[in-house]
Order: sequence, then C-alpha cells, then structure tokens
Amino acid sequence: MSEPCHTMGLVIRAKREKDVILTLLTPEMGKITVIAKGAKSLKGPQMPLSQPFCYGDFELYKKGDLYWLHTGELKENFYGVTSRLDALNLAAYFCDVAIAVSEPGEPCEELLRLLLNSLYFLANKTYPDELIKGVFEWRILAMQGLSPAVNCCCGCGKTQDGGFALDIAQGELFCGECRAKREVFGDGVRMDDDAPRHEWVLLAQGALEAIRFAISTPLGKMMSFRLDDETDRYDFSRAGEKFVRYHLDVDSAALKMYEQMRGK
Ligand SMILES: [Zn+2]
Repeated sequence: MSEPCHTMGLVIRAKREKDVILTLLTPEMGKITVIAKGAKSLKGPQMPLSQPFCYGDFELYKKGDLYWLHTGELKENFYGVTSRLDALNLAAYFCDVAIAVSEPGEPCEELLRLLLNSLYFLANKTYPDELIKGVFEWRILAMQGLSPAVNCCCGCGKTQDGGFALDIAQGELFCGECRAKREVFGDGVRMDDDAPRHEWVLLAQGALEAIRFAISTPLGKMMSFRLDDETDRYDFSRAGEKFVRYHLDVDSAALKMYEQMRGK
C-alpha cells in the first residue's frame, strides 16, 4: 500500500455491499471511489464518514485504481437534510447530477462548493426548496458551458415580454410574437420540418430574470435575489430541470420521488 493521503471530500454515494463503496467528490482529485472496509457495522470506527452527504477530512490509502478509507474527521453531515423527505430526495438528486458531471482526476472545487452550499441551504431551510433546486440546476449548466441565450428574444431582440418561451434543445428564447409566427402557442413539443423535436417551456418575466441572475452571478452571491411568486419559482426550477435532463442526460430516481411528492 502507498503512503496515506489526505483530502477533503463529500460522500455523494454510499453503496452498501460487503464493505461500503463510497463515491467522494474532492476538490483536487475530482470524483473518486473509496472502499470503507468494515464501515457497514454500525459500531465501526469508519461509520460516521460512510454516510451520504458527509463532508470531512479523509485519510486514504491508494491500492491499484481504488482508494481505501483509513481514518478521517467528520466536518459536517447536513443532518437537517435527512429530517425532511423532500430535502432528502433533492439532496440525492443534486448528488446524482454531480456524479454525472464530475470525472476522476479532474479538479472540481467550484462544483463541490455549489453542492456544499446547496446541501447547507436544504438542511437549514434557508430558502424555499424550489429556489435552491433551480439555482443548483442553472449554475451546474453554466459551469458546463450550457447556459441558454436568455438575454433577449432570438427572433426580434426584445428583452421584456409577458410570454417568453425557451427552446430546451437549442437554448433559444422567443417572445410571444415571434413564437406565434412559429406557430408555437404553449408548453410542449412541436414537430418541425427541418428539426426533429422542439420542446418548449413557458417563462413569465420573473422566472426569466431569475435564470439570468443564476447563470451570471458569482457563486458566493448565488442566492442574492428574491423570487417571491410561487409560480415563478416553480417555472424557474422546472425549466432548469428540463435543461439538466436534456443536456446532461441525468436520470435520477430521487428526482422522480421528489416530483411525485410535489404532485406536479
Ligand atoms: Zn421576438
């Protein structure tokens, strides 16, 4: 075995087999797999570090392609997340998205910070769940270089309109008038002669402003805005979810559970 190494890390998946197989998100090493031997036992010394959403200082040994957990110190377990089923499902969905966009060996400090912030807000109910979810989704998309062009209507350049809609696949915004010219009148899917499918999501001005803010603001100020209208919050979050699903190909059972509970 090699010399031990230390890393800060967040448990984004914990699979219980004979041992516990952890997926850790670390700032410098990216996503890594860690075996926590004996952590399955409730009394095992590694148990506190082997739970989903645990953030800590991990001491690891490397053997082949795998890391083995030796010891470590728990810094935060986001306990509040586990006390609400909505928050638990959202936290698991955030981790599913993080798994999809992270790679072994690729530093991901910003992604880790976003995830830690989002888990903190969920655990402490700092903001409405839909707002935390939407900001997480839009920021992930921005980090991946997948932000849609939301500054103005791509047909006429208008920046204010009551009936904007966003094309999910193309990432283009259309005002009500330009949309009517294209014979797209509502949410849904349109067949087109030269493009196979267009899925649209309607956005009121409030939800659109929130998307503009979320994709362009530094991480430290990501929640420094208000979106008081519940429908706007829902549209903001739903549009982010559709974008994540389409462009990052994330299929999350936890998100489905969350949606069932949300009843929409
Ligand atoms: Zn237009």
